[in-house]
This record gives sequence, C-alpha cells and structure tokens, in this order.
Amino acid sequence: MSQEVPKTCKVVLAETVAKRLLGEVADSLDATRAKGIKQPCLTAFLANDDPAAVKYAEWSKKTCEENGFKFVLRTVEKELLEEEISKANDDDSVDGIIVYYPIFPGNPNHDRYIQETVSLAKDVEGLRHTHLYNMYHNVRFLDPPTNLKKSLLPCTPLAIVKILEHLQIYNSILPAGNRLFGKTVTVINRSEVNGRPLAALLANDGATVYSVDVTGVQLFTRGQGIKQPRHQVLDKEGWALEDCLRASDVIISGVPSEAYKVPTELIRDGAVCINFASFRNFDGPAIKERASIYVPSVGKVTIAVLLRNLLRLIDNRQPAAEQQNALVAG
Ligand code: NAD
Repeated sequence: MSQEVPKTCKVVLAETVAKRLLGEVADSLDATRAKGIKQPCLTAFLANDDPAAVKYAEWSKKTCEENGFKFVLRTVEKELLEEEISKANDDDSVDGIIVYYPIFPGNPNHDRYIQETVSLAKDVEGLRHTHLYNMYHNVRFLDPPTNLKKSLLPCTPLAIVKILEHLQIYNSILPAGNRLFGKTVTVINRSEVNGRPLAALLANDGATVYSVDVTGVQLFTRGQGIKQPRHQVLDKEGWALEDCLRASDVIISGVPSEAYKVPTELIRDGAVCINFASFRNFDGPAIKERASIYVPSVGKVTIAVLLRNLLRLIDNRQPAAEQQNALVAG
C-alpha cells in the first residue's frame, strides 16, 4: 500500500540553531577561563529609541548572563556616544563593544564614523573597515603571513551562514569555501551592515546571489567554480524581485517594514525562506504551504555569534608566542 507523504514545511526556530552554537561557545569559554579571564565583558551602547534594539539588548543580556558572560548596557545621548566609546576602548575591563544602529537615520556616514570609533581589538560586531575589507576580499586573518589572529565577520550575516550550515544548505561533501556551489540565493536588503556583507559572504562560498534593494538588483558571484578568491558584483539592469525569486533555492529577507511581504506566489515550491527583519517579511500560513524550510527569525543565533566573536577577540589579544604554542599543542 503506497502512503502519500504530506507536503509539509519544516519550521526551524533560531533557538534550535543557537543552542548548538552556545554549546561550542561554552567549550571556548572554558579555554578562555583557563587563561585567567574569568568573565568576559560585553559593553553595549544604546543611543536610539528603536524598540527592536531594546529587545535585542534585553535578549543579549539574558543570553550573556545565562552563559557566563557579563553584559553592561549603557544608554547614552547621541552627542556623547563618540566620547563614551573612546572611554570603553581604553577600559581594560571591557572586552568587546556593541553599538545599536541606526543612530543618525538619514546620515549613514555618521553611523560609519561611529563604527570606526570602536577599537579594532573590541569590534565584536566585525563592522570596522579592516574586518569588512577582509570579509569582502575573503581574507581570513588579521596578521598575514603569521595567520594567528582571525578576522571577525559581522554578526547577522555570520548568523545566517550558521543557519544555512545547520539546514545543510552548505554541502559538506564539497571543499570548505565552495560549499554553496550550485545554490541560488536571493537576499532582500542591501544595507551596509546586513544585506551587502551577507550577499558577499554567500558568493565567497560559491553561491549565485541576487541582492535586491529599492535601488535595483545586483548579482554577486565568485566567478566560475572556485577559481576566483573573492566575489564579483554585476548590476542586473531591468531585473526585478520576481525574476530573482523564481530562480532561487533560498530567499533571505530583511526589510524593516511591517507592511512588507515577499510575494508567496512568486516563490518556488520547496524553497528555503529565512526572515531576519524585526518584522515578519513572509506571510506565515501561506509560506508554510510553499517553502520546504522556514526560519521566521534569526536574532537568537546572532547573539550566540556575538559571544563567539567576543571569545575570538580575547583570543586575538594573546601574544603571538602564546598563540603559536596553543596552535602546536592543539
Ligand atoms: P537598514 O534600514 O539599514 O536597511 C534596510 C535595507 O532594506 C535598506 O537598504 C532599504 O533600502 C532596504 N529596503 C527597504 N524596503 C525594501 C524593499 N521593499 N525591497 C528591497 N529592499 C528594501 O536596516 P538593517 O540594519 O539592515 O536592518 C534590517 C532589518 O533587520 C531590521 O528590521 C532590523 O531590526 C533587523 N535586524 C535583525 C538582526 C537580527 O539579528 N535579527 C540584526 C540586525 C538587524
């Protein structure tokens, strides 16, 4: 007797992915403690009144405290932010600094300036130009040719990579650096802190990525196969979201608007859909009839990645000789 397999969508919660990552963080924290750092400290600066930032800060505090980290939230006036960040840069009790953006809406250059105010050694979000340059150029270390200090990746894009690994969209049979070869991904949002770095990261891992924003569509690729070490970008004149959706195995959306919904009818049957906006960009019931996997939010994974990055910063502070010994011993 043949049994029909029900056409159901698997909903994967961020919590499930975060749990696994926090297990890895716990192991790394044990190693950090063995080096004498008892409780790593993350200092967060809130200078806007974005409810999503407040919620994210609350979750970060909870996750930090549950996992052996100290979290200090500093609410400051926009005008004093630069000075307060500088003080935290010089404060040895602070291991990593996070700032909630946007702070100066309509003036992204000012936000960029604030990002550069955070010391590279405390840039837990991976948003300093050096970290971003390395990501865009697929450079993995801060100290070539010694290659002991790992360059950090921005938290939300990295969280989405970790989700795609968990979902086995990354094909582990292929060599690292090419595990998205053959996959087509649409990323809706090309902001400098989220969508653009995400598109580049996925292209660096071999995917064909359509990056969609209000200004148009861009194609991010790494050229043919694994021959190119870094991504390339091409403007897709005349292309619209619908052209990208029809071609995509994976759709990742981060549009900061309550009203925005990715049109379900244009999504391929069996696509993987991930929402990273603080609003639901997919129509909940309908998407479950269309997608094979649906990830409604990513915030908890982002926080786990933040802690992972914090331990990496602490590791990078070790003198080179100590790191070399650890490498040989490990
Ligand atoms: P942003 O405002 O800097 O960028 C949003 C981008 O989306 C802009 O480039 C804008 O032009 C584009 N956009 C707006 N409407 C669009 C449309 N209809 N089609 C295509 N693109 C459109 O915001 P951001 O910092 O990138 O954050 C985006 C969202 O993600 C927010 O809701 C934010 O709260 C959320 N977020 C979530 C996490 C997390 O870990 N869950 C982390 C950071 C941000």
